[in-house]
Amino acid sequence: MIRFNVPPFTGKEMEYIKQAVENQKICGDGEFTKKCNEWIEEKTGTTKCLLTTSCTHATELAALLADIKEGDEVIMPSYTFVSTADAFVLRGATAVFVDVRPDTMNIDETKIEAAITEKTKAIAPVHYAGVSCEMDTIMDIAKRHNLVVIEDAAQGILSTYKGKQLGTIGDFGCFSFHETKNYSMGEGGALLIKHEKDVEEAEIIREKGTNRSKFFRGQIDKYTWVNYGSSYLPSDMNAAYLYAQLEMAEDIFDDRMNSWNQYYESLKELEEKGFVTLPVVPEGCTHNAHMFYLKTKDLEERTALINFLKEKDILAVFHYVPLHSAPAGLKYGRFHGEDVYTTKESDRLVRLPLYYGLKPEEVAYICEQVKAFYL
Ligand SMILES: *Cc1c(COP(=O)(O)O)cnc(C)c1O
Repeated sequence: MIRFNVPPFTGKEMEYIKQAVENQKICGDGEFTKKCNEWIEEKTGTTKCLLTTSCTHATELAALLADIKEGDEVIMPSYTFVSTADAFVLRGATAVFVDVRPDTMNIDETKIEAAITEKTKAIAPVHYAGVSCEMDTIMDIAKRHNLVVIEDAAQGILSTYKGKQLGTIGDFGCFSFHETKNYSMGEGGALLIKHEKDVEEAEIIREKGTNRSKFFRGQIDKYTWVNYGSSYLPSDMNAAYLYAQLEMAEDIFDDRMNSWNQYYESLKELEEKGFVTLPVVPEGCTHNAHMFYLKTKDLEERTALINFLKEKDILAVFHYVPLHSAPAGLKYGRFHGEDVYTTKESDRLVRLPLYYGLKPEEVAYICEQVKAFYL
């Protein structure tokens, strides 16, 4: 069976975890956490990176820093993972969903402005499949309406928009290091902070509302409870696992990109013949080969394709059920405007296996079977 995902493993993980244990500092903000933060800061150019226990928690932290409160509204796509909405709903805000663009499955930037009310506080664009949203337009809208932009860049690490790294364009950016993402620590994430003014408060909220980070840096001689907060620090053992992967990031990136390109080249024929639609990477954007998907004619054809591939020992999977149609979405959110593409396009989308270490022969076999289904 060709699995849909295999968690990345490069070889040095166990050695680094052992080192973390031998350092006798296995809690948060140890040596490996610092190394990961610095690596991300250097690669992305963000002002500050703080490793967190998940992307969900990074988004929660961003929601606290953006002072999202009861009655506020946050604009986001409905075609996303639950965390994008959860982080704001947890603060009492309403998720206001707008339609996606069919080419990238990202929020349709031309439909955001009409969804803004006097309650709107933030926009949360999601970079689906590691392909950027139209960020210049989104940042311009945010500026004119005084809104905070929190990028859900869970899938977007090392992708770019007009030369800028995803996660560094908005006021805050959130990465995921879940085992299904390009680089992993099992469960984990990171918050990227653009403005220096937000850094100290972020450190405090992440450390249970205390100024312990300042204390560890020797800037104060005792630490105390100074604000509300939570515990968003991952253990240094998990950070050790991640650091082994970040050191090999180029390898992982190239390996995934080779698979992605092989899929694209091979399946182009099916698109040319009008059977399927392949992903689009808009001009000015580079992607990180997080995901390879194709779109079938409709839901029925997708189900048939998934079943056909399963019989050939290939696990292909569909993706999000739009949040506005989920029970919690009905309760905590509303869809603004017309759902032209969200439901229709999500029904057509199927993801093919893609992970570090997937072999070219396997990609060739999968493509052969997808073609066998159509031709
Ligand atoms: C994976 C993912 C998340 C959640 O990440 P966790 O680290 O599991 O919290 C959020 N948003 C998107 C778009 C994701 O793909």
